[in-house]
Amino acid sequence: IFITFEGPDGAGKTSVLNEIIEKISNKLGPELVVTREPGGTHIAEAIRNVILDTKNTSMDARTEALLFAAARRQHLTEIIKPALAADKFVFCDRFVDSSVAYQGAGREIGAAEVWEMNKFATEGLMPNLTLYFDVPSEVGLARIKNFRADEINRLDQASLSFHRRVRNAYLNLQATYPERIVLIDATQPFEAVVADAIKVITQRYPV
Ligand code: C5P
Ligand code: MG
Repeated sequence: IFITFEGPDGAGKTSVLNEIIEKISNKLGPELVVTREPGGTHIAEAIRNVILDTKNTSMDARTEALLFAAARRQHLTEIIKPALAADKFVFCDRFVDSSVAYQGAGREIGAAEVWEMNKFATEGLMPNLTLYFDVPSEVGLARIKNFRADEINRLDQASLSFHRRVRNAYLNLQATYPERIVLIDATQPFEAVVADAIKVITQRYPV
């Protein structure tokens, strides 16, 4: 079972994911693989370094989208597919939806084109379930400005308009694929967000 965790900056996705793992991994035990792109694979890591290296200068949006898709492809073949073939749960922090939101909408390539390109990378393999942590852009941005000022190294991504494009893309994805993508209100207190997320997962996949 393939479950992904998505959301715009400042949704708290990563902290929530860590807490969920803390709370349910003992129930899933060795059957759970927790990962994120590039997932420690040597090749995907190398690709990711190219994205990060040129982050602040002149990387073209389509180049960035291709590199994310390339890293995704390698991570999928080396980590995700083998785990799914072994009947494990795979919890993955970000996947194709992130590219549709960030490169497609944020960087304005267009959602449809980013989808097409990622279909080549994934051969259509999509998550069984996606938890989308939703936060209004003003709230998300305030959170990253307060708590993660050191992490903001791409100033354009810290703009309200960029954040709004990303969030709207996620909301469109959720509306388009309501069976796969479940919206979680990430403005709630941390424990409530964690509880909602665990409920969504365990209702669909009793552990
Ligand atoms: O998941 P996390 O919040 O750690 O992601 C870090 C950053 O990577 C995001 O804020 C976003 O700027 C960037 N990113 C991106 N395109 C993706 C995935 C992540 O620009 N497809
Ligand atoms: Mg994060």
